[in-house]
Amino acid sequence: MQEFQVRTPQRETFQDITDQVRRAVQALGVTEGVVTVFSPHTTAGVTINEGADPDVVRDMTAHFRRMVPEHCDFRHLEGNSDAHIKTTMTGTSVQVIVSEGRPMLGTWQKIYLAEFDGPRTRTVWVQG
Ligand code: ZN
Repeated sequence: MQEFQVRTPQRETFQDITDQVRRAVQALGVTEGVVTVFSPHTTAGVTINEGADPDVVRDMTAHFRRMVPEHCDFRHLEGNSDAHIKTTMTGTSVQVIVSEGRPMLGTWQKIYLAEFDGPRTRTVWVQG
């Protein structure tokens, strides 16, 4: 397994981790197959979406906030129930096909750590 850290700069952000995943795949020595990219956190997930236009992740962040407001009638004493819910919405892992040693992504796709309770240092696991 490979592991890397991601420093997220604000409470909610989609942090591009495509290059780190690429390096992890190389370090694993996987040339053909599938790798899993996993977030071992309850308030940060992993997802794949557009990386060309930064307004897409801005819009996603804003819409997640509208769907699940930070302050609501939650009971969880830590005060971050919205972040737990958003993480369940994104999921905590993605699988990526690897061919010729490279993660296969569509032209516009990037792999993101979806941070919902930052800023923090997050860990990502890659196994294949
Ligand atoms: Zn919590």
